[in-house]
Formats: sequence, structure tokens, C-alpha cells
Amino acid sequence: MASRRLTPQTRRRLSARPELSIAGCGRRPPKSVNLPDCLRVSASPRHKSLISRLLLAWYRRERRDLPWRRTSDPYRVWVSEIMLQQTRARTAIPYFERFLERFPTVEALAAAGEEEVLALWSGLGYYSRARNLLRAARRVAAAGVFPRDYESIRALPGVGGYTAAAIASIAFGLPRAALDGNAMRVVARIENDPADIGAARTRERFRAAAQEWMGARSPGAFNQALMELGATVCLPKNPLCQACPLESLCAARAAGTVADLPVKPRKKAPVRIAGALLIVRKGESVLLRKEEKAAARMAGFWSLPSPGDLPEARIGARVGEFRHSITHHRYTFTVYSAQLVRSSQSGSEPRPLGSGCQPALGPRPPELQWFEPARFAAIPLGTIGRKGLRLAGIG
Ligand code: SF4
Repeated sequence: MASRRLTPQTRRRLSARPELSIAGCGRRPPKSVNLPDCLRVSASPRHKSLISRLLLAWYRRERRDLPWRRTSDPYRVWVSEIMLQQTRARTAIPYFERFLERFPTVEALAAAGEEEVLALWSGLGYYSRARNLLRAARRVAAAGVFPRDYESIRALPGVGGYTAAAIASIAFGLPRAALDGNAMRVVARIENDPADIGAARTRERFRAAAQEWMGARSPGAFNQALMELGATVCLPKNPLCQACPLESLCAARAAGTVADLPVKPRKKAPVRIAGALLIVRKGESVLLRKEEKAAARMAGFWSLPSPGDLPEARIGARVGEFRHSITHHRYTFTVYSAQLVRSSQSGSEPRPLGSGCQPALGPRPPELQWFEPARFAAIPLGTIGRKGLRLAGIG
């Protein structure tokens, strides 16, 4: 983001250092974040209203033009908030636009089949979000009206406290502070708070701080401004403090602890997993396998088959390798071209080799089907499958 030129007036206002108050101690904090509670720096009451004013003025000038910011329609705000969980704004934009073009109203979404919704969500990951969105849309459509208060919004499938607060404030102007990860970082730094942001009580304390700063004016804009500041200025590494509207009020900036905040929970050690995928072709078509309904992950999604799915396939040349991460799991997939040796080269639907002699109580054979690349957009195709197909130059 380009840094902003401050007017002389604003510069004078921001150049005044905050009157930092240190609860219970009356001393300036050291440059360490390992502070006891009595040494926490927090904004004085005067600064609380100033935070809101400066933040809102900055947001009006600097905010990015994102499609979901052009509306306060609760359905659109809700879809955007669900998409933005675990997904960056830039990535979410084309998905949001496609989704709203196909399902312009909550009724249109409610009438859709799950497979079509998952197909439009394909590539965004965390597919339980899409399934819950559909369940909630059906509930809203049956009720005939979108819920208008925080508790009723919170009761919808897939809507947690953060999402309910975001919808309540942006769509209905209700004064509920909503803090995503970006906003948490801003609060930790403004407050110079070294508590672990993975802890529920820390998140609640930060939310309460933001709630105090918010005031009654423009709660939706305030929430978006705090998140926007975290996304574009108060960056995890090398924050652009000189372009920050809250620089003069930021306790971490004054204490020299910005780089140490926020304090995050210790990450799980990465688990490395190797796998293989097969590209089996018949003319223009490619063989895909469907994850069974009872699968813990990616149920109902199509992907490339593994050698285990086609035990009698003849494995050919190595196409390449790609990586994929899910939480702390680091996958490396090697993709091979392969040929079916006994199955349906003659044109009938493929079946996994050996399926005819499955024991009665043995594992179910995978569902396999030929697809032309032109159909990929209409089916739920998981990211791993997409990456493998892209590596092979298909689709
Ligand atoms: S001054 Fe720097 S650390 Fe403090 S809120 Fe602004 S960008 Fe973040």
C-alpha cells in the first residue's frame, strides 16, 4: 500500500506523544513484552475516542475498494465474511463475484444443490464453510427474513462470534466489535499486550478493548477499519508505522515492542506426508475419483486417483511434483501418468480393477468417472486434484 502524505494539521496532531498510563505503577514500560499485568500500557479514556475518530477518517481515505464493501445487504455481507475466513481478500474476490452472480439472493442459494455450491467453492478450501452456508441459507429462506440481532445471527450454522458481530455491525449497524486476526494484531500492539492471542480470554479482552474504542458511531465502518489497518498497515512483519493513523497512540510503538507482538500460540511441528497421484487419460477425458460421503475430509469432492485406487494400473512417466499444506500437514505429491490395463479402454465406465472380487465386508471401491476438462468447473474438484491436473497441463 502506498504511504499517505499527511497534511501539516494532521502531522501536528499525530506528533504529540500519547499520555501513556501504566496501570497501578506510574512507570514507563521496559522494552520487553514480558510485562506483569501491572505494567501494561493502555490507552487513556481520551485516547479511546481519538482512536475511533482517527481510524474512521483514515478508513474513509485509504480503504481498498472490495466488492462486499459496496453493500450493506446482510446476505452479501454474510457470504463475504464466510469466504474471508481463512482466505485473503484478493483471493476471495473472484469467488465472491461468481457466487453472487449464480446465487444473487439467499432464496436462490437455498434452492441450490450441494454439489453445485461446492463446485463454486472449489479452490477456496475449508468446504464445511460452504455446506454450512447452504444449510443456513435454507433456514433463512424458510424463515422468510434474515435475522437482525446478534444472537439470532450467531445461531445460524457456521456462524461464530466474530462472524455474527461482523454481520450485525456492517449490515445492521449494531455496536458489536468484530476482531479477525489482523485486528487482533492491531489491538495487541496498541495496548502493548503480551498475552497469547490463542487464548480465549485474551481474545475476549481484546474484543472488549475494541468495543470501548468503537463508540456508537459507525460500528460497521469501525470494525472494517480496524481489520483494514491490520491487513494493509499494521503488518505482521515490518509494519508501516509511519503511515499509521494510530502511531501516536500506539503503546507498542512507544515501548519499542512492535516486532514482538502479537504473542501467538506455539505452532504444531509440521508433519510431512508423501503421496502419489495418477493421470489416466482416454482421449480428451481424465479419470477422477470421488471421495466417499463418509470421508472425514473432502467428502463428495473429485480428485485424481492414487495408485491404491487403481492397483492394477500400469504406472508410466513421472509428470512432476507439487506441495500442498493443510494446517500443519505438509504434503508432497508426485504425479505419474498411468494406463488402465484391464478396465474400460473400450468405452464403458471405469471400475477399479479388482472390484469384482471385493470381499463382502471389505472396503468400498472408489467411485471413478471420466471427465472432459470442460466439465471441471461444474463439479466439486478439490485443490489437490486441481494442482495435479495443472501440473499435467490439463484444464
Ligand atoms: S503504530 Fe505501527 S504497530 Fe502501532 S498500530 Fe500502527 S502500524 Fe501497528
